[in-house]
Amino acid sequence: MTRTERLFRTLLAHYGPQFWWPADTPFEVMAGAVLVQNTSWRQAERAIAALRQRGFLSADAICKCCPEELAEMVRPSGTFRLKARTLKALAGFVVDSGGLGQLQRCSTKTLRERLLSIVGIGPESADAILLYAFERRVFVADSYSRRVLRRVLAFEPDSGPQNYDFYRARVESCDFSHAELNEFHALLVEHGKSHCRRRPRCETCFAAACCRFTGNPD
Ligand code: SF4
Repeated sequence: MTRTERLFRTLLAHYGPQFWWPADTPFEVMAGAVLVQNTSWRQAERAIAALRQRGFLSADAICKCCPEELAEMVRPSGTFRLKARTLKALAGFVVDSGGLGQLQRCSTKTLRERLLSIVGIGPESADAILLYAFERRVFVADSYSRRVLRRVLAFEPDSGPQNYDFYRARVESCDFSHAELNEFHALLVEHGKSHCRRRPRCETCFAAACCRFTGNPD
């Protein structure tokens, strides 16, 4: 078993299943992936609740919604005009493509490229959508995941593997199923918030036995 796989088993044994992504529909996952950019999930949830309450939590409805009204609904998530524009573009992409069913027929590579071509959708949002909305076998290498993995696997901060794609490929090369990649990402976020913070709490960390972090600041 690799160190990465051992970390996954250790986190799962401690925290248990995280049941991500908290959403009722694939399009709600997509909207959430946009609204959570650069903010907390709590703030994103407030925007999602406003969209749901007014019946705008679908690609068709967002396409028809006036931009100002949409921006007001997503205001709680911050940078709301930008996010409203991205939501409009994402909804337009879904509708113009013939719906989520049609998009599901695309290969993961093609779908990723098409998502990344939408202004406002970066690698992290695209992979969250692929993993949680389209159930593809990809890993979301967000900042929490990268921080925990960098420490546990003892990558040097200045040795090059700082970029998103390096960590994504590293985890995807392990023998994880789609469900395990889903769980692993959620567990890494939890661990990055509770123990492996910017200032890590190594002295109380249950994962220390499989971690190669030596205490160097990063
Ligand atoms: S031992 Fe420290 S660096 Fe390693 S995972 Fe735990 S908190 Fe993070």
